[in-house]
Amino acid sequence: MSTFQELGLNEDLLKAITDLGFEKPSEVQAKAIPLLLEEDKDLVALAQTGTGKTAAFGFPMLQKIDIDSRTTQGLILSPTRELCLQITNELKLYGKYCKGLNVVAIYGGSSISDQARAVKRGAQIIVATPGRMKDMISRRMVDISKIQYSVLDEADEMLNMGFKEDITDILSHTPEDKNTWLFSATMPKEVATIAKKFMHNPTEITVGNKNESTSNVSHEYYLVNARDRYQALKRLADANPDIFSVIFCRTKRDTQKVAENLIEDGYSAGALHGDLSQNQRDLVMKSFRNQQIQMLVATDVAARGIDVDDITHVINYQLPDEIETYTHRSGRTGRAGKTGVSMVIVSKSEVRKIKSIERIIKKDFDKKEIPSGGDIVEVQLMSLANKIHTTETNHEIDKHLESINELFADTDKDELIKKFFSVEFNRFFNYYQKSKDLGVVESRGSDRDGGRDYGKQSNDSRYFINVGSKDGFDWMKLKDFLKEQLELGRDDVFKVDVKESFSFFNTEKGLQEKVLAFFTDFKYEGRFVNVEVSEDRGGRSRGGGGRSRGGNDRRSGGGSRRRDDKPRGDRRSSGGSGNRSDRRRSDDNRGDRRSSDRGDRRSSESSSAGSDRPRRSRRRD
Ligand code: ADP
Ligand code: MG
Repeated sequence: MSTFQELGLNEDLLKAITDLGFEKPSEVQAKAIPLLLEEDKDLVALAQTGTGKTAAFGFPMLQKIDIDSRTTQGLILSPTRELCLQITNELKLYGKYCKGLNVVAIYGGSSISDQARAVKRGAQIIVATPGRMKDMISRRMVDISKIQYSVLDEADEMLNMGFKEDITDILSHTPEDKNTWLFSATMPKEVATIAKKFMHNPTEITVGNKNESTSNVSHEYYLVNARDRYQALKRLADANPDIFSVIFCRTKRDTQKVAENLIEDGYSAGALHGDLSQNQRDLVMKSFRNQQIQMLVATDVAARGIDVDDITHVINYQLPDEIETYTHRSGRTGRAGKTGVSMVIVSKSEVRKIKSIERIIKKDFDKKEIPSGGDIVEVQLMSLANKIHTTETNHEIDKHLESINELFADTDKDELIKKFFSVEFNRFFNYYQKSKDLGVVESRGSDRDGGRDYGKQSNDSRYFINVGSKDGFDWMKLKDFLKEQLELGRDDVFKVDVKESFSFFNTEKGLQEKVLAFFTDFKYEGRFVNVEVSEDRGGRSRGGGGRSRGGNDRRSGGGSRRRDDKPRGDRRSSGGSGNRSDRRRSDDNRGDRRSSDRGDRRSSESSSAGSDRPRRSRRRD
C-alpha cells in the first residue's frame, strides 16, 4: 500500500502524521485523500467504523483550505456531540503544525454564545451537530455562505436520527458550487437519496462490502427466556473477567435501568443515553475511555461512532429495532486490528432476526450457551490463578516472610493454595453453586460444533491452555491452531472458549493423552504453552444447575465482582495485558447516578435481598 507521502500531503500534515504514529494510510484514506486533493469533486465513501474516515476527509480539507483567511471554508456535520468533539480533536491533532488553524465545535447542551464567540474569532472549519448548527444559522451567529467543502459524517446515522430536514436546511445556506463529501458505514436508501439530492455526480468509493461487518469480529448469540436477560448479561460478564464492553439497550429507560442494576450488583458500569446531562455524559465517556468502567451501557444514538479502542465485547442486551443498526454496534469492537466478539442475548421470539442479521453482515453467528455456574467459577478461578502466576513479586513482603511462614508451618502447599483462593472466592462460589442454568432449547440447528450436546455427562475432556486473545487468538483461530498442531480432524476440537490470557477447549476423552503429551514441551512464539485437564468440567458445569428457582435467583447480585475494594496492585497481571488492569471503578464514573436516591435503594434492597447476596462491604458505601 502507498505511503502518506505518496498521497500528496504537505509537510505540515506529514509531520503531524509522524507524531500521531500513523504508519501507512488505511484503505479509505489511500482511496479518498489523493482523489480529494487532486480535484474539486463530490464524494460518497462507504467504510466500516474504525477504518479512519476522519483522516480521509480531515487531511484533504486541512490542505485545501486557506489558513491565512479567517473565513469559514469547511463544515462538517456529525450526528452526536461526542462525535463532534472527537472529530474536532482529531482535526486539531492533524493540523497541529498548520499555524493559525482554528477548528470550532458546535453542539447542543453547552453555551451557544461561547460557541458563537469562538466562531467569530475566525474558524476556518466548523464541526457541528445539525440541531445546534441550524439554531445558530437562524440566529445569524455563523456564516456558512462561503463554505467550499462540506462533509456529512456518519450520514446513515444522521438520517436515522431524523436530521434530514435540518441537513437540508443547513445546506441551503451554503454555496451551490461547494464540494460535498459524504461518509457512511452503511448505504441505506435514504443515504442514496441524500447523495442524489445534494451531490453532483459523486465519485463512490467502497471499502469492504457495503453494510458488511468487520472481519475480525466474531458473532455469538445466546438464547434465553426474556425474563432471564439480565442474569444472562451478568453471566456473560462474569465468564469474561477482563471484559471491556459496550452493552446496547433499545431504550433510554432500559439503558439506565441495566446500568443501575449492574452498579448495584458491584460491577464497574456506567450509562450513556440522551436523558443525561452533557456533563454526565462527558464524565461517563471519560471514565470509559480511561477504562475506569468496564461496561458502558448505551443507547445506539448515544454510542454511535464512539471511537474507543480495545473494546473486547459488544453485548446486544436487546436487538436493535432496525437490524442494520447491528453493524454499527458490532463495529465498536475489533478495531485497530484487534479481535472482538459481538454477543446477542435473544429470546425465542427474536431468534429469527439472527438469520436476517447474518444475511446483512454476511457472516454466521455461533450459537452459544450462557455459561453455567460451574463454567464461571472455573473461569474466574483460572483467571485469578493466572494473574497470581504472572504477578511480579513485591519484595517488600520479604521482611514479613518469616512470620508468615511460621503461621503456615503446618499447612502444605495444596492446602495453602486452597485457603488462599477461598479468601477471594467463597462468595462467588456460593452464589453460583445455587444458580440454575439459563439456556433455552431451540430448534435452529446451526451449532458450529455440529450440535454437540455439552449438557450430557460426556466423554469429553476439557482443557485449560495458557494462551488467549492477547496472543492474537479468537475461538476460530485457536481451534484451527489446535487442529493443525495436533493433526486432528474438523470436529475433534470443540467448545473453544477464548479469554484474554487463557482459554478452554474440549476433545474426546480418548484424545486426552495425545493432547497432554504434545503440550509437555511446546513453545509458541518463544514461550511454553501449558495445557492442563480442567477437571471441573462436565461433572458440575451443567449438573449444578437445574435447581428450582430460588427467591434470590432473579435479580440478586450474584457473581458480582467488585474490583476495587483492594489496592490496585493485586489486580495486576504483568502479562502485558495493557492498561486494562488499571481499570477501576472510581468515584467519578458514577456521574450518571443520582446520588440522592442511592441510599434508599441500597438499604431497602439489602434488607430484601437477604443474606444470600454475595456482596461484600464496598468502599464507596
Ligand atoms: P471511523 O470514522 O472510520 O470510524 P476514525 O476516523 O474514528 O474511524 O479512526 C479510528 C481510529 O484509527 C482513530 O483512533 C484514528 O486516530 C486511528 N487512525 C486513523 N487513521 C490511521 C492510520 N492511517 N494509521 C493508524 N491509525 C489510524
Ligand atoms: Mg468516524
